[in-house]
Amino acid sequence: MKVPIASIQNKIIEIHEKMLDINLGSNITIVSPIVLTGEMVDDAATDKVHFKGRITAKLSLICVQCLEKFEEALDIGFEETYLPKSENKSDISEKELVEDLDMFIYHGDYIDTAEIVRGILLETIPPYPLCHKCRALDNS
Ligand SMILES: [Zn+2]
Repeated sequence: MKVPIASIQNKIIEIHEKMLDINLGSNITIVSPIVLTGEMVDDAATDKVHFKGRITAKLSLICVQCLEKFEEALDIGFEETYLPKSENKSDISEKELVEDLDMFIYHGDYIDTAEIVRGILLETIPPYPLCHKCRALDNS
């Protein structure tokens, strides 16, 4: 869903969205719709957008050890701040700004919740996933 920045100004927007068509790469399949709930609020003075919410998802991953598919349920709470891409901050590169403040940049005049969910999921999913069986073996 693309949320226009203009629609957030001076009020809280409730987000409740189900998504199925998010590209997480060829090794990850979405088993049941990803559910995003949360509240988006705009700080009118600075144009920062705060987004606090929760993502639940059931994904099918491929175990790096036994190469079998397994399902993983995720329940991720998040709180992020998004900054508008600004022309008058040309002395600081965008990347530096993001790393320094742990914030994200949005482009244009809307925030795309699908992009946010994709980013958070990719950050959360382990790069070398282990299935429950292999995890148990590893710990014994
Ligand atoms: Zn395994």
